[in-house]
Amino acid sequence: MDGLSTSIIGRAQDKGLLSVEAINIRDFAENKHNRVDDYTYGGGAGMLMQAGPVYGAYQSVVEKAQSKPRVIYLSPQGQTFSQSMAEEFAKEQELIFLCGHYEGIDERVLEEIVTDYVSIGDYVLTGGELPAMVMIDAISRLIPGVLHNDVSAEFESFQDNLLEYPQYTRPEEWHGKKVPEILLSGHHANVEKWRREQSIIRTAQRRPDLLEKAELSEKEKELAKKHLQNTK
Ligand code: SAM
Repeated sequence: MDGLSTSIIGRAQDKGLLSVEAINIRDFAENKHNRVDDYTYGGGAGMLMQAGPVYGAYQSVVEKAQSKPRVIYLSPQGQTFSQSMAEEFAKEQELIFLCGHYEGIDERVLEEIVTDYVSIGDYVLTGGELPAMVMIDAISRLIPGVLHNDVSAEFESFQDNLLEYPQYTRPEEWHGKKVPEILLSGHHANVEKWRREQSIIRTAQRRPDLLEKAELSEKEKELAKKHLQNTK
């Protein structure tokens, strides 16, 4: 997949930390025109991918797999992809991403092979390849060695149901805006305290829905409440 062959994920593949193989379902077409779609029973304008070629492609992958991999069907009807799902999938040795096209795929083959239905958001795209790449990117960066730092040890957005705090790099002053003094203090505990507060404020302002699941002390709840009110 071209979109995954450069930058961090490309380098991780070069280092052998992960590998991505694209299978063309058309190669499993059951007719000489390589067509894998047909009209839907019951009428309607759109075309549907047929069960046979999808099953053939699936079998060709499963035959080579070490164990029976989970099969993720990218679908707007699936559970919305999240960081916690990425963490769960990152523990798997092998994954199959099934990408639909046209109006989707014949229900019977989905019933037979799909273990997880995953959506990347409440909108409809033309195919499952971009959603699959989004998932592969998010999952791959959790594999040890893919990033320089240990992601599990770093605070990032969605950890503890909070968004990440604001960050700054050099220069200390840019367009008349100074880096918050506390970040230059070298006082680790104070920096951590400031970052935690900023995370809570930012989450209250930008994603108040997340706060319901965040574990906050009474004082932190007060801080969140103050900033929730400010956004109304
Ligand atoms: N008829 C389907 C429906 O209404 O649920 C939509 C089919 S869509 C046009 C074609 C393919 O794009 C789907 O089979 C799926 O693989 C992919 N797709 C579209 N939107 C997606 C989304 N939000 N998340 C994941 N996959 C999506």
